[in-house]
Amino acid sequence: MDLTREAGLKRLAEFVAGPLTNYTSCRNLDLGYGRHTEVVSKLSPYIRMRLVLESEVIAASLQRFPAPTISKWIDEVIWRTYWKGWLEHSPQVWKDYVTAVAQLEQDGWRERVNYTDAVSGKSSIACIDDWVRELKDTGYLHNHARMWFASIWIFTLQLPWELGADFFLRHLFDGDAAANTLSWRWVAGLHTSGKRYVASASNIERWTEGRVRVTETLATELEAIQRAPRDADHNNASERVSDQSFSFRSGERQILLIHPEDLTPEYSSLSTEAFDAVVVTDFSQTPLANFFSDQIMRSHRQALDDCVQRVQMHFSTQVVRLAPNELAPFAQERGLKSWTCFKPMVGLWQEAWLPNLGRAKQSVAFVQREWDQRLLPFTKKGFFQFRKSAWAVGFDP
Ligand SMILES: Cc1cc2nc3c(=O)[nH]c(=O)nc-3n(C[C@H](O)[C@H](O)[C@H](O)COP(=O)(O)OP(=O)(O)OC[C@H]3O[C@@H](n4cnc5c(N)ncnc54)[C@H](O)[C@@H]3O)c2cc1C
Repeated sequence: MDLTREAGLKRLAEFVAGPLTNYTSCRNLDLGYGRHTEVVSKLSPYIRMRLVLESEVIAASLQRFPAPTISKWIDEVIWRTYWKGWLEHSPQVWKDYVTAVAQLEQDGWRERVNYTDAVSGKSSIACIDDWVRELKDTGYLHNHARMWFASIWIFTLQLPWELGADFFLRHLFDGDAAANTLSWRWVAGLHTSGKRYVASASNIERWTEGRVRVTETLATELEAIQRAPRDADHNNASERVSDQSFSFRSGERQILLIHPEDLTPEYSSLSTEAFDAVVVTDFSQTPLANFFSDQIMRSHRQALDDCVQRVQMHFSTQVVRLAPNELAPFAQERGLKSWTCFKPMVGLWQEAWLPNLGRAKQSVAFVQREWDQRLLPFTKKGFFQFRKSAWAVGFDP
């Protein structure tokens, strides 16, 4: 996978000029390995790291089509924003997920045969084994395959949804705490009360154009109801985090901190600021390097290299790569007190570096992109309410 901004923009241009025309009718088709780009964008790894911005995706699309013609496409792009914002308002859901994975590990789930068989492509369901291979080889699964996979994992194989989400997060190029955890919860029936997603053989066969035939028996709707996992009682509103976003304080000596959630600072409100130093967080010596699969780590490194090159040119300054534990000493040695960065969102990356600065009592000014400022406040409730508000404010870049 070529994870650079240039490759992402090229893919965006190809998609807008081609498959976007038929996206509404064809996006649910899983044509199989090597053919996904005929119907969907495969932009998610670029959007995930903001090598390509959502605002750029929408702007490029609207240059070619009027919004009502591509409303389904716009809705999918903003689903990600919705999930990101929702988890930001309910960080406990992420914490509970992390705790659950740790508990399952402690209970020996990683060694249980039904789990080890499932993640090594030797389950009792052939299509699951094929998707495991595709995911491990390519770091990608079509959205429909992700839904079928999660459903069969939870209701037919009766494995804990948290371990399925963990497996995805380790292997997906677009692996994202919000989109992944909340999609798994949604399939399990934990996000929208009483609604779970039950995969059926006929639906799989239809949307793979007969390529995937399921001969094994899948759990029925009734079995899914009986087997649905129970949720901790999450009260979205009461968990709301205080809005910690600060505005950039021009004039102060600042270090620009770049982290993998936004690798295009040269196209942002920060682009005209002068920084005393620019630092890119480097996770290659942290436990995260062992968490992600090798190909994911390689592509992350490539994305960071690409960002360093662009940032070096744009800000005309040397960019320093530092591990999370080197950040605070770096600032201290230079007599700098303030960091500026894009607001990190709930998830693995944030946890890997933000507490280090907090412990050293260094201040961090969080900057939010206009896209986030405009849309995230609407993400506290359901998607359809969010959608209505998002469309009302519009998507102008
Ligand atoms: C169990 C499960 C796990 C998932 N895990 C992730 C994940 O870790 N990271 C991730 O980015 N997406 C995740 N998704 C959502 C979705 O499957 C992917 O975003 C999509 O398949 C990416 O492929 P694409 O870029 O070709 O999508 P396209 O159909 O071309 O969509 C364009 C963009 O819109 C966004 N998008 C599309 N569908 C969704 C959706 N359902 N939810 C959120 N955003 C969406 C993505 O940024 C995507 O790149 C998951 C879905 C399920 C069911």
